[in-house]
Formats: sequence, structure tokens, C-alpha cells
Amino acid sequence: ATPTALMVGTGRGAQLGILIKGPEVLESTRRVDTIVLDKTGTVTTGRMTLLATHTADGVTPSELLRLAGALENASEHPIAQAVAAGAVKETGGALPVPEDFANVPGLGVQGIVEGHAILVGRTQLLAEWAIHLPVDLERALAAAEAAGRTAIAVAWDGEARGVLEVADAVKDTSAEAIGRLRALGLTPILLTGDNKAVAQAVAAEVGIDADDVIAEVLPQDKVDVVKKLQAQGRSVAMVGDGVNDAAALAQADLGLAMGTGTDAAIEAGDLTLVRGDLRAAADAIRLSRRTLGTIR
Ligand code: ADP
Ligand code: MG
Repeated sequence: ATPTALMVGTGRGAQLGILIKGPEVLESTRRVDTIVLDKTGTVTTGRMTLLATHTADGVTPSELLRLAGALENASEHPIAQAVAAGAVKETGGALPVPEDFANVPGLGVQGIVEGHAILVGRTQLLAEWAIHLPVDLERALAAAEAAGRTAIAVAWDGEARGVLEVADAVKDTSAEAIGRLRALGLTPILLTGDNKAVAQAVAAEVGIDADDVIAEVLPQDKVDVVKKLQAQGRSVAMVGDGVNDAAALAQADLGLAMGTGTDAAIEAGDLTLVRGDLRAAADAIRLSRRTLGTIR
């Protein structure tokens, strides 16, 4: 394509809510045959709500939420925000400020609240401290996950204390977007750190094949998933919103960042979907093919 055609394509992109880093990006956009989609915040809204709490013997729901909520209040993760908001609602008061706090990427949070050493996150996080769920909590967690919810465990002072259920709605534009991407000949793949059951439920809802779901991937391993697909000879686009996705966005042949996401993702991407609407990903690919004359 002529430089003029590329400039026109770039300008049209802006009208469609697509920011393109440079005209050369259109060339890689044209070639992609696989599109890897982060789940949380990309295919789903990322706005989670607390739906249920399950407590261990001797623990009250408000006690569970007060301590878990206090710790999560220090995190910006969508799950953390849901837990903190649910805790404020349940306890009706201000949450204590943690004496110590750390994010454990892809697993949860840990810290100290009112002298208690607390963990909130995946059961793998608890297992690192040799803490295991009692049978009834294990069952509640499995049932929640089978229902397509994200279930997280809470422990303090070396013992499992409860399970919290949160859920995040699929964006109402995601299924249509994935249909459009397929119509352009792309294979959509869902990539997430979340558990397999939740990932499969989301995939089914938006029209991604069960075989094309890659779940329980740690943030630092997302980039390897992209590399592996590239090693199979695929030309890979990656769409993401989180700090977690930045390395994979940079590795992909084409990185698309949600404009509603973090600065780290936007900096790593080649394109920004300004409104956080996945349909703009299909628009971008159509636009580049058209601009470069592969389709009319
Ligand atoms: P995704 O790849 O879908 O954006 P993440 O990698 O951020 O998800 O998180 C993966 C999983 O780790 C979550 O589904 C959750 O089980 C757990 N997790 C991460 N951060 C937190 C947190 N702050 N509180 C509780 N659980 C968390
Ligand atoms: Mg995300």
C-alpha cells in the first residue's frame, strides 16, 4: 500500500475508536490468523460482585468479610474490589487498614490485619503455606466453580476460614465480536489465570471452542503461550487489559490493548481499542486488510 493509503487507514481507525501506534502496524494486523483473548476485563467486564460467602466452623460471615475485605481493600484487582465492596456492605463500617500487604500475582493477596496473618486467593496460594480446605469448604468451592463463578479461599493464622464467590459478567458485545473475528478467518483462543470451569463457562457463552481455552496460566507464563502458538507457525494477535498481559502483548505479532485497561497494557500494545469494545478488534483487522487491499 502507498503511504497515503496507510495514513488514510490510520485516520479511519481513530474514527472507529482504534488508536494505531504507527502505519506499519497495519501490515502485521493484516496477517494475523489467531487471536488470543485475555478473559477478565477483556471478554468480561472485569467488574466483579461478591455473590456468596461460606464460612468454616466457628467463623461468622461478617468476621470473614471484615478481615478478607480489609486485605483486599489494599489491592486494585477486580476480585479484590468486589470483596472489599461486599465487606463494607456486610459489616456496615470502615475496614481496618492492613499492617502488611503484598500481591501474589495470579494467586491472590497476603498480609497482616489486626495481628492476623491472612491469605486470600486461589487454593494454590494456601497450599504454599500447607493450608488445605476442610471438606465442606472444598465442596462449596467446587460447586461455585462448576457454576462458572470464581471462588477464592480465605485463611488466617494457618487455618482455612472460608470461601468467597465472585462473578463477573461477559460484556454484551463479546459474543458478536468473536463471531466477527471468526468471519474474518481468525481462531479465537481464551487465555486466563482463572480456573478451568469459569474459563469454559465464559468460552461457551461467547462462542470459543472448549479446546481453545487455556486456563490457570500464571501472569508470567502468558507470554509463553503466545510464543508457543508462534512456534506452530501462527501469526498471533493478543488482546488484553492488565499489567499481567503486557509481556504477551509485546510478544504477539499484534498487541491490542483495551483502552479501559492499565497503562502498562496500553504501552505494550500496537493498537488501543479506545472504548474497551472487542468489536473494535474485528474492525481493526477489516480496516487493515481493506487499507492494504486484501479485501474490498
Ligand atoms: P486473569 O488472567 O483472568 O486476568 P489473574 O491472573 O489476575 O486473572 O488472576 C488469576 C486468579 O488468581 C484469579 O482468578 C483469582 O482466583 C486469583 N487472584 C488474583 N488476585 C486476587 C486477589 N486480589 N484476591 C483474590 N484472588 C485473586
Ligand atoms: Mg485481564
